[in-house]
Amino acid sequence: MTDSNFTFKELYQGFSLPLSEIDCGEKCGPFNNYGVPVCCDIELVVPSAYDREWEYLQTETELWHLWQGSGSLEQEELIQSIQPGQKLIQCLGHQSCQRSYRSITCRAFPFYPYLDSSGKLLGLAYYREFRDQCWIISNLSVVSTEYKEQFQRTFEKIFQRYSDTKENFLHFSGYMREQVADAGESMIFLDFAGRVFMVNPISEETREISYRDLKNYGPFGIIKELVFPDEVQDQVQAKKN
Ligand code: SF4
Ligand code: SF4
Repeated sequence: MTDSNFTFKELYQGFSLPLSEIDCGEKCGPFNNYGVPVCCDIELVVPSAYDREWEYLQTETELWHLWQGSGSLEQEELIQSIQPGQKLIQCLGHQSCQRSYRSITCRAFPFYPYLDSSGKLLGLAYYREFRDQCWIISNLSVVSTEYKEQFQRTFEKIFQRYSDTKENFLHFSGYMREQVADAGESMIFLDFAGRVFMVNPISEETREISYRDLKNYGPFGIIKELVFPDEVQDQVQAKKN
């Protein structure tokens, strides 16, 4: 039985590993308009925090404040879509990041917990809308097994305490299957034991595949095919400076 009686301090300690040994912010940042790692760019991703997570962060650090937004229609929709008991928050920026006080949403990005329609947590699926921007999505094989284990334990605990969150990700997983089916594609998820699976979005049948079968997206697809990808990234970086 998973213990739902956790503090956010404990939850953070149990979900502290980076996605991989590679500093992926250095991979995606050079392609972002501001040179900022994509998931730390408030123009692209607005983190959220549970009420008790927000209480914990407020007592421990000055890193975060409540996100104000600009009042645009799109941002109003985002505010409306937030789950009850959560807040949208903004940090001081990637140059002031405090790793131990990153929110759960920071730690999980670019993944969400993928559930089948019976509610079984199968693994980590990625937010498709970031395929062209997040380097990790084009390099899923670098995500460590230890990270995936921490992700699993963390979301099992969260689901135990916050049944609304589980319900939300159950619906979101179904919604993503519909989106993928409409696009004529298959879904991909990583399980917690190092394997990668393809899901038929209509039948939900799963099939293990090889990491070599995965696609690359946006600039990362082009770069993988080049002989000296690091040089290309250096050139992109030089252009930004
Ligand atoms: S998780 Fe993706 S978006 Fe975030 S820093 Fe890594 S590559 Fe960039
Ligand atoms: S807390 Fe750190 S990881 Fe999270 S958005 Fe801010 S800079 Fe990025």
